Amino acid sequence: MDYGKVIKEIYAEISDVKKEGKVADYIPELSVVDPDKFGITLITSEGRIHSAGDSDERFSIQSISKVFTLSMAFSLLGDKIWDRTGVEPSGSPFNSIVQLEYEKGKPRNPFINAGALVVCDILFSKRADPKNEILGFVRKLAGCGSINYNMKVAESERSAGYRNAALINMMRSYGNIKNPVEKVLDLYYTVCSIELTCTELAKAFLHYTNIRKDFDICGYTLTRSQIRRINALMLCCGLYDESGEFAFEVGLPGKSGVGGGIAAVNPDHYSVAVWSPLINEKGNSVAGMKFLERLTTITDDSIF
Ligand code: GLU
Repeated sequence: MDYGKVIKEIYAEISDVKKEGKVADYIPELSVVDPDKFGITLITSEGRIHSAGDSDERFSIQSISKVFTLSMAFSLLGDKIWDRTGVEPSGSPFNSIVQLEYEKGKPRNPFINAGALVVCDILFSKRADPKNEILGFVRKLAGCGSINYNMKVAESERSAGYRNAALINMMRSYGNIKNPVEKVLDLYYTVCSIELTCTELAKAFLHYTNIRKDFDICGYTLTRSQIRRINALMLCCGLYDESGEFAFEVGLPGKSGVGGGIAAVNPDHYSVAVWSPLINEKGNSVAGMKFLERLTTITDDSIF
């Protein structure tokens, strides 16, 4: 398959499409991002890199970071992690609070905000310096030592973070947050602010395409079975309450963020990262989803 050619073709096709959606403005600092940015990188399992557009510009990966923090916590706790968070799609918005009360403070899955806050709480309990530890892990996964947090974005989110504060306080009241809420929120906002390029993101996700080899990054080990389970979670829960639509249209495990990025994997074949800051009302990049739908349609290859 000539992925380079396919990507260039879809890139041209998508650029002509009038972009719908709007930049995330509930985090003030994200609203200043140029809405016309569009980048894509696909890396084959043999390591061939194919890119187009703004693929080497860093952007705020936001919730895509939830895959990395889950990987670390899953490695540290093993199956005990599922006592703290479920593995079911939520069918509700990423920052919804309603289920948390019905389900006694246990989030539906680790990829909605509530679940990621629990994962941050676990890393806070288990690690003396979780911010540095997470940064080191992501740098190693992506193979780039200059990746960093954007503290302006983290601060901006904190200033408007009433929803996340409500979620974490609700979970704390049920005993599912063990550390001071302000400290865990600070870790969560910092991790969400991490910035990667499409190429760095695709490199990081390449590790999740390899379902035949155990994973060991900075001493965090995951078995093949654990990698497959992370892929299963991405498929069922990775695009908030649009995960069904993404499985239906694209057919790959993936994770999105409100910064407009989507990273996805076709196990044994490739990883791919797209970025376009214009998101729909569910929080997913409109052009990014369209691009990935065209990719799996034209190549006639998804996980199904
Ligand atoms: N930091 C964002 C929030 O908590 C992440 C949301 C996202 O990318 O889905 O609202």
